[in-house]
Amino acid sequence: MKKYRIGVDIGGTNIKIALVDFDGKIAYSNTTPTRAEMGYEAGVNNIKQAIKDIMNESATDAKSIEAIGFGLPGQIDYKEGVVKNLPNIPGWVNVPLAKIIEDEFKIPTKLDNDVRCAALGELNFGAGKGCDNLICITIGTGIGSGIILNGKLIRGASNAAGEIGHIKMSMNEGPLCGCGDYGCFEAYASGPAIVTMAKEYISGGKSAKYKEMAQDGAITPYFVAQAALAGDAVSIQIFKQMGKIIGVGLSSVINLLNPEKVIIGGGVADAGEILLEPIRQTIKDRAMPIQANTVKIVPAQLANTAGVIGASLLVNS
Ligand code: ADP
Repeated sequence: MKKYRIGVDIGGTNIKIALVDFDGKIAYSNTTPTRAEMGYEAGVNNIKQAIKDIMNESATDAKSIEAIGFGLPGQIDYKEGVVKNLPNIPGWVNVPLAKIIEDEFKIPTKLDNDVRCAALGELNFGAGKGCDNLICITIGTGIGSGIILNGKLIRGASNAAGEIGHIKMSMNEGPLCGCGDYGCFEAYASGPAIVTMAKEYISGGKSAKYKEMAQDGAITPYFVAQAALAGDAVSIQIFKQMGKIIGVGLSSVINLLNPEKVIIGGGVADAGEILLEPIRQTIKDRAMPIQANTVKIVPAQLANTAGVIGASLLVNS
């Protein structure tokens, strides 16, 4: 009898894999290094081994597994089960991963973008339970999103919907974005943007606690958040400013889609209320009243398990 699904969350550093039951509970999980530098063939073998290991270690046979789902950090053709391209994992171009895994394990396999998987996880078993319309965003190295409308995940005409980080925040100027354009949302507000702002304050002559915390000189958003929580005025100001920018970007999306909730996850969101509060305030000030009065801005609940739990749900989504 089918009791489980396998969810796999592929990141630039680690592959997370979990055996997930039909109530969204993780029965068994593992992590293994991605070793992106070894190319996609070694990566595929690595993934196959991780699936074999989790089945062996949990004493689960293929008959009890309904499906395998993968969340990957890039552009994925969900219908064809093909990885189109992963910006941070070189060599993964047009890889028919679903077929490779189905041929090996004879278990139905689906792939999608990792943030969309996180949105599915949060919708079904996390902060989005009971919602029909939500946006799940992750703030880390970049800003990504998964959009649920009328209970359904939105993929778009060519599986590329949800690129919230590339909303244009200026006409034809602003910081250069990784996508090649200028003035994108994620070029203004993301982990690297926090670091840029933090360095500007120091070179402008301000003393800031995060500089002392980063003993080897590598300032990270984590240190800026810790300094803010310890009452450092410059760090509090940086998070206020970041929250304001994120609130402006989100106001456009909230006006457009009228969601019940915006769920905020990703490493930078672990800063908590020092980031969420200025986001809420800005949305109140800048989004249209009906949409602003409806939407709730909440932290993600599933933390780093949203990806594997969501990936396990792809077969029915
Ligand atoms: P990626 O986008 O690379 O997957 P993550 O979503 O894991 O990254 O986010 C990593 C970023 O989150 C790093 O820049 C790190 O400094 C930052 N970070 C981690 N914990 C916190 C925290 N508690 N507060 C603020 N930033 C944090």
